[in-house]
Amino acid sequence: MTYRPTGKKKAVWSGKNAVLLIHGGAGAINPDKLEGRKEKQCLDKLRQSLIAGQKVLSSGGSSLDAVVAAVKVLEDSTLFNAGKGSCLTRSGKVEMDAAIMDGATGASGAVTGLNCVRNPITAARAVMEHSNHVLFCGRGANSFARKTARKAGLKIVDPSYFVTQKSWRDLERILKAEKEAARTGISVDALTTGASQGDGASPWFCGSHKYGTVGAVGLDDRGNLAAATSTGGTTGKDPGRVGDSPIIGAGTFADNGSCAVSATGHGEYFMRCVAAHQISVLIKHCGGDVAAAAEKVIFDSVGRAGGSGGVIVLDSLGNFATPFNTRGMFRGVLGKNGEIEVAIF
Ligand code: ASP
Repeated sequence: MTYRPTGKKKAVWSGKNAVLLIHGGAGAINPDKLEGRKEKQCLDKLRQSLIAGQKVLSSGGSSLDAVVAAVKVLEDSTLFNAGKGSCLTRSGKVEMDAAIMDGATGASGAVTGLNCVRNPITAARAVMEHSNHVLFCGRGANSFARKTARKAGLKIVDPSYFVTQKSWRDLERILKAEKEAARTGISVDALTTGASQGDGASPWFCGSHKYGTVGAVGLDDRGNLAAATSTGGTTGKDPGRVGDSPIIGAGTFADNGSCAVSATGHGEYFMRCVAAHQISVLIKHCGGDVAAAAEKVIFDSVGRAGGSGGVIVLDSLGNFATPFNTRGMFRGVLGKNGEIEVAIF
C-alpha cells in the first residue's frame, strides 16, 4: 500500500501497486492476414487502452474508473467488436451488451441490446450507480440510458454511429456461408475460414463468429478489484440474442475476496458453465491459484463442452492469468512496475 498522510491529512495514492489487464477478443485469428499495419494498429490500440487506465490509477483513481477508461478506448476503435464497429444481427442492426462489477461491494450493472450510447460500458455503470437494478435489456436499456444520460454523463448517439463497412461485409459473409452450408452440408466454420483468405471481409478473424469483444480487470492501490466487458455480440446473431458478457458470473465478475474476470469467446458456452463465477469459486473455496483456476475453466469446462475463447483474471495480490483455447487473444497488461506488455498469440 502506498498510503501516506499529507499535511492536510488527505490520503494520497500513487498507483504503485496497481495492475490492469485488458483483452480485445479471442478467436481463430489468422496471423497471415494480421501481419504488418493491422497488427501494429491493434497492438497500438491495446497500449492506448492500458495507458488510459494507467493515468487513472497513477493519479489515485479507483479500479472501477480505470477499467471504464480502458474499455472506452477499445469501444471507440473500429478494430474491435464493441462500441463503434460492433457486429450486426442477422437483420443488420447493432445490439450491444456490457457489464461492470465492483469487487469491493459486489455492486454491478449491465445492459443488453443497447444501440444509443457511444460507450456501452458507461451505460452499464449508470445502471450500477443510478438504478436499483442490475440488468436492463433492449428497449428498457435504451430508454434508461436516455433518461439517465445527463446525470450519468452518457453520450447519446444515433444507432448508425456504430455501423461500419466492415461489419456489413462480415454479416454478408456469414449469411452467404449459412446459405451455402444449408445447400452443401459443409459447416459454416469451414466455409468462412476459407472465405476469409481472400474475400476482403474481416481481415484477421476466421470462422463463423466475429470475436473481438473487449474487457478489462483492474486492481487499485486500495486493494479493490473491478471488471468490465463490452461487446457487439456475434455476427449474424438472431435479434434479441444475449451473450455471456453482460451476465454477471458468466462473462464478467469481480470479488475482492477472490478475483476479477472478463471473458471473451463463444458466449453460450461461458453462460452454460457460469465461467467467470466458476473461476472465482475455485480460487476462493478450492484453494486454487489464479492460473490453475482460469486454465481449468477454459480448457476443462468451456473447452470440453466445445466452446472456445479466453479470460483475463486478476486477484487482489496482483497475480493474473490470461488463458485461451483459441489461436490467439488480443491482450495486454500494465504491471506493478508500470510496464506495459501487449500480445496476440
Ligand atoms: N462472448 C461474446 C458473446 O458471445 C463474444 C466475444 O467474446 O467475442 O457475445
